[in-house]
Amino acid sequence: MKGRDIISDDIFKTISDVADAMKVEAYVVGGYVRDFMLKRPLPNDIDVVAVGSGIELAEKLSEALPKKPKVTVFKRFGTAMLRHNDIELEFVGARKESYRADSRKPTVEDGTLEDDQRRRDFTINALAVRLNNDGFGELIDPFNGLTDLENEIIQTPLDPDITFSDDPLRMMRAIRFAAQLHFTIHPKTLAAIRKNADRLHIVSVERIMTEFNKIMTCERPSEGLALLFETGLLPYFLPEINALQGVEEVEGQLHKDNFYHTIEVVDNISKNTENLWLRWAALLHDIGKPVVKKFDSKVGWTFHGHEFLGGKMVPRIFKRLKLPLGSTSKYVQKMVAMSSRPTALTNENVTDSAVRRLLFDAGDDIDDLMLLVEADITTKNERRKRKYLNNFREVRERLVKVEEEDKLRNWQPPISGKEIMDAFNLPPGREVGLIKSAIKEAILDGEIHNDYDAAMAFMKEKGPHILQSDEKP
Ligand code: ATP
Ligand code: MG
Repeated sequence: MKGRDIISDDIFKTISDVADAMKVEAYVVGGYVRDFMLKRPLPNDIDVVAVGSGIELAEKLSEALPKKPKVTVFKRFGTAMLRHNDIELEFVGARKESYRADSRKPTVEDGTLEDDQRRRDFTINALAVRLNNDGFGELIDPFNGLTDLENEIIQTPLDPDITFSDDPLRMMRAIRFAAQLHFTIHPKTLAAIRKNADRLHIVSVERIMTEFNKIMTCERPSEGLALLFETGLLPYFLPEINALQGVEEVEGQLHKDNFYHTIEVVDNISKNTENLWLRWAALLHDIGKPVVKKFDSKVGWTFHGHEFLGGKMVPRIFKRLKLPLGSTSKYVQKMVAMSSRPTALTNENVTDSAVRRLLFDAGDDIDDLMLLVEADITTKNERRKRKYLNNFREVRERLVKVEEEDKLRNWQPPISGKEIMDAFNLPPGREVGLIKSAIKEAILDGEIHNDYDAAMAFMKEKGPHILQSDEKP
C-alpha cells in the first residue's frame, strides 16, 4: 500500500491543483499519515507542509473552496489554519530549525522537505505523502518511518541527544506515543531520554501536562507511567508519585511498592472509566503514604491518616501543574480522602449507620468512589481478591437499599433553619445549628427516616431537651 488511498478525500485534490498553480510542492505529514498507515481512526486535523509559503497556500486554497473558509494565520509561527467541513487543515512552510541550549525557541529558516522531516520528533511522525499532481500519493520516507511503524519502534530521525536537547518536550512525547500505540522506544532513544531528563525543566508545565494527560487517557496508562519513572522524567513534575517507589524492610517486614501498586490501580480504573479526573484520583490515592509511613514493632508498617493528608496535597499539586482548580480539584481531593472509606465498611460489624454516612459524605460521587476502591484491589491472591470484591458487592447492595429508603445522595435538611426558629421562638444562632445537626445525626444513624414528618416529630420531641442541656454549662 502506498500513500495514495490516504488522500482520496476531495480536499487533497483541490490542494494539488492549487499547489501546482502556485508552483510549490505540498505534502501531508505527521499524525494523519502515521494513523492512516496504522489503520487507526483518522484524526480530524491534517498537517500540510509546503515547500514555500504555507500561509499563501492556505489562502489560495480557501479561495478555491466553495465556502471560502476563514484562514487563521499565526504569523509568528509561519503557519495558517482553515476548517473544511469537519477537518482542520494546518499549513506550514518547510523549515529548518536551529536551537540554543537555554531555550526551546528555535531560530527558523526556510528549508527543503527533508529539512522539515529532520526537525520532526520521531521517524513515524516524519512520513510525508506528496500532494502535487505529478507524483500524487507518493510516500517520502527518508528516515525509514515505515519500517519503524511495522516494527512498532519509536525513534528520533536524528541523533536522539540532539532531538531531545533541541526540544525536551519530545521526551514526554516519545513516552506518550509508546503508551498510545503500545510501541517500544528504541534503546538508543531511551538512553538519550535518561541522559537528558533534567532538560525537562525548561519546558512549560502546560505542555508537559498536555502530553501527560494523553498518557493518562491511554488504554493502559501504566505503560507510560512506568517509562516516566524509569527514565527519570517523573520527578520533574510529579515527585509525589516518584516517592511512592521502593520497598522498605524493618525487622523482616516489608511493605508493598506503592508506585507499582498505584500504576496498576490506574490501569484497573481505566478499564472502567474514561473520566480523566477519576484516573487522576487513582494516580494520587496513595500520595500521603510516604509522608505518614511508620514502623511499629507490634503491628508492622502503618500509614495512618494517609488518605486525609493525601487529599490535602491535591489542590497544591493541581495548582503547581496548572490543572483545573475549583470543582475538579475538589472532586479529586474528595476521592483521595475517601479512598479507604468503603474498605473500612467491609468488616463483619458494618452498621447501617456507617453505610448511610458513606453515602451522605460521597453524595453523587459514590459510584466513582466504588470504582476506585475496586480498582485499588491489586492482590495477586485470588481468594483474597474474591473476598474483597464480594464485600464491595455487598456494600453496593446496601448502598442501593439505603438510598431507596432515605435518599441520602444529595441530602438536604428536611427542616429549615427558619422552621426551627419559629418552632422554638429562637433568634438565628448556635442553638438552631444544634437542633439541625441533631436531626441530621438521627437520620444518619437510622433512628428516623429522612422525611419531613419524621424530622418534625423528632424535633418537637428532642428540641426542648437539646436547648435545656445547652443552657446548663
Ligand atoms: P496527535 O494529534 O495524535 O497528538 P500528532 O502526531 O498529530 O499526534 P501533533 O502534536 O498534532 O501530533 O503534531 C503534529 C506533527 O508535528 C507530529 O506528527 C510531528 O511530526 C510534529 N511535531 C509536533 N510536536 C513536535 C515537537 N515538539 N518536535 C518535533 N516535531 C513535532
Ligand atoms: Mg495532530
